[in-house]
Amino acid sequence: MSDSKTTCSDCGAAILQITADMYYGRCVPCHRKVAVITPDDFELPGEILARVEEQDEDPEVYRKLTWLFGTRRTRGLLDWRKEQAKLYRQWAPRLRAFAAKCRKTNRPPPDRSLSIRDHEKQRICELTCQQSIVGLPNTVTICSMPLIALPVAQRLWPSDDGIVLLTPEEESQWNELYSPDTGDWGWLRSWWWIIDDSPQREATFENSGETITITRWREGDVPDGESPWLVHVGECAGPLSGSGHMEWWSWDGKRAKFVSQLGRWIS
Ligand SMILES: [Zn+2]
Repeated sequence: MSDSKTTCSDCGAAILQITADMYYGRCVPCHRKVAVITPDDFELPGEILARVEEQDEDPEVYRKLTWLFGTRRTRGLLDWRKEQAKLYRQWAPRLRAFAAKCRKTNRPPPDRSLSIRDHEKQRICELTCQQSIVGLPNTVTICSMPLIALPVAQRLWPSDDGIVLLTPEEESQWNELYSPDTGDWGWLRSWWWIIDDSPQREATFENSGETITITRWREGDVPDGESPWLVHVGECAGPLSGSGHMEWWSWDGKRAKFVSQLGRWIS
């Protein structure tokens, strides 16, 4: 690696030539000051633009990223995206075929056979899944939900190539066929809708080796004759990026009504 020196075009500090090349003649602190807004006349270097187009990526996204983080990171990102696109071409058809086979062997029960309780769960699913899942190029999102909720999702999100619907059990079976490396989240994302109709009032979970207990509702908060249902909706792309929320619904034996949102998380 070259260690030739130059000076920052803004503050005059001595910097490595490689830094100047990456940050358009500036040192890192000066670059950060100007990097928040991408100037209209900033253009992607020709060789990067060619790769962006060849890989069918969005040039405007890369124009902003390159301005912000420099050309080296953009090249690294393009390498990673290329690898993920390869995995997508290799695995996405298998995943779709797996899902199609599941729907043949494990069909949702017909509407007429559903209880009032199941119909109410479907209604909640419809209300909480209104937001569509945005399909990204070369990406599949596994949407996992109970079997009775699948017809709702099929109606809400018809024929989208970027979405595969599975039950949680089927998703586990898929995970045995495909065990992703930790960096393989670029082509495969997950989204879930879970309804827990017999939740515990207190929940415990582990966080950095510590056991944490949270109380979801107080005794007496649930009216006599009603039982709480908890709805979890979440999504994640890889182990580090995700978001979701939990809703409390109350079931009185005939109808479920929304009570409150119990929590929202983002990581
Ligand atoms: Zn500077």
